[in-house]
Amino acid sequence: MSSSSLPPQTLKVGIVGFGTFGQFLAKTMIKQGHTIRATSRTDHSHLCHQLGVSFFRDVLSFLEADNDVILVSTSILSLSEVLRSMPLHCLKRRTLFVDVLSVKEHPRNVLLQVLPEEMDVLCTHPMFGPESGKNGWKDLPFVYERVRVRDEPRCSSFLQIFESEGCRMVEMSCEEHDKLAARSQFLSHAIGRILSEMGIESTSMNTKSFETLVKLKESTVNDSFDLFGGLFIHNRFAQQELMNLEHSFEMVKQRLLKRMSEEQNLNKV
Ligand code: NAP
Repeated sequence: MSSSSLPPQTLKVGIVGFGTFGQFLAKTMIKQGHTIRATSRTDHSHLCHQLGVSFFRDVLSFLEADNDVILVSTSILSLSEVLRSMPLHCLKRRTLFVDVLSVKEHPRNVLLQVLPEEMDVLCTHPMFGPESGKNGWKDLPFVYERVRVRDEPRCSSFLQIFESEGCRMVEMSCEEHDKLAARSQFLSHAIGRILSEMGIESTSMNTKSFETLVKLKESTVNDSFDLFGGLFIHNRFAQQELMNLEHSFEMVKQRLLKRMSEEQNLNKV
């Protein structure tokens, strides 16, 4: 069901951080008829030219480019520095700021701190990427919180980008997202990193379960260590999950060692 009864507007979307994920989102938005602009640390102007995106090396011109929405897709670790270095007071119109970072309380707090009060804020996490979303976004979860939204039709038009692709729209608070993500996304990344540290490789006699582990390792190491670091440093629930993992590992190990010593004692009699 659409989040608004009004027909969605075509939007002018300015993307800050035109890396892998920013590019991935831009392609679908272009397909839907939205106008895309981008700015980034790296000069992506050649790629932007091929995609039909206007690339701005100069952040001031980017901010003055009359965007309906500014979509923030920087790495988690660079968000604060990137936003604080932008002359945001030069924005001439009320704009909707949307972030797509994989943690949610941190960007919400930074956006509320650095943005002029008249800017709207929508915090989102599309729970998919270029690999899992390569054949379309149908049924893939899109988590969001309307943090400070006064222009409802514009916000609905933005959400419609994901609704119309068939995403499963999940509205929840940034806090709830981070609690759940620490137990799911951060945990998967941590286990994937541990498996990679162990150097596990596919064998000629893989079981299905082992294949799952190999896939987890491969998908985890394809993501940058910056992403993993960001999931830990900027999610206040992740540290507890890391301790839970360590504690549970120790519990399993102790149970095994206890069982081994029981068996050895039995064999002695
Ligand atoms: P990423 O490594 O998390 O972020 C890359 C982006 O951050 C690039 O645009 C890069 O700019 C910018 N960046 C990194 N360090 C910077 C610095 N010191 N100063 C300025 N800019 C810096 O990779 P990503 O996959 O593109 O992810 C972007 C965001 O989307 C992240 O917050 C991530 O959590 C979120 N996300 C990603 C996925 C996914 O599957 N990839 C899914 C959901 C959400 P340049 O390109 O200009 O170098």
